[in-house]
Amino acid sequence: MDGALTKSERETLKAIWRLTSQPRSEVGARTGDLASSLKVSPGTMTATVKKLADRGLAVHAPYHGVQLTDSGRRRAMSVVRRHRIVERFLADMLGYSWSEADRLAPTFEHQLPQEIEDRLYAALDRPATCPHGFPIPGTGSAGLPDMPPLYDLSPGDRAVVALPGSTDPDVAMFLEGLGVRPGVEVEVREKHPFDGPLVVSVDGNDRTLGEKVARQIMVRVSPEKATAEARLPGAGKKVSSTINSKARKDSV
Ligand SMILES: [Zn+2]
Repeated sequence: MDGALTKSERETLKAIWRLTSQPRSEVGARTGDLASSLKVSPGTMTATVKKLADRGLAVHAPYHGVQLTDSGRRRAMSVVRRHRIVERFLADMLGYSWSEADRLAPTFEHQLPQEIEDRLYAALDRPATCPHGFPIPGTGSAGLPDMPPLYDLSPGDRAVVALPGSTDPDVAMFLEGLGVRPGVEVEVREKHPFDGPLVVSVDGNDRTLGEKVARQIMVRVSPEKATAEARLPGAGKKVSSTINSKARKDSV
């Protein structure tokens, strides 16, 4: 079933997915962008894309760039799933920071036998997200929910924070000081007009974030707004626990 893809084919699948999964991106990934994101030459990238196309995982149409087929998208999701599980292993079991986990995972994730990935996932107690706060796709999954920037939300919206591995370490440290870290739920209180700052509530404290920083924080939007409807009648259940159990279900 796992018709052995090479490390570069797997990384390329993931890169195509990353470049084409942004909302409103109707166009395919350009081979030049793929090449620079994986730091290989355009010729090498064209050859890898051709191999993926020969396997029916990608389509490279003139003037339309590279897109994944349905089976390519499922395959990309399994690559993403493994990466995020291995990151969890490095962070939770070996004590690496989340940025180190992101850097070290690709040194061995591609050689990992499927059965070891499955055991790791179970040993980690079936985590819903990677240490950066991004969801771990379920097996056989064909996609993941959109993760818009925090800055795109409106007052009253609640969301769970994810910080990409590429986040500037100084920005990450600044956010850490405010309590804005991966997996934390925030609620937008106020958004100042004309690209002004955003005020969010974190653990009961109001925190002000500039536009530039708020655009670097990705979020998983909570299904309900922070209104009375967000609570189950009489259950006194917090929205965050609903999210966790939902995320957990998605990832099984
Ligand atoms: Zn991650």
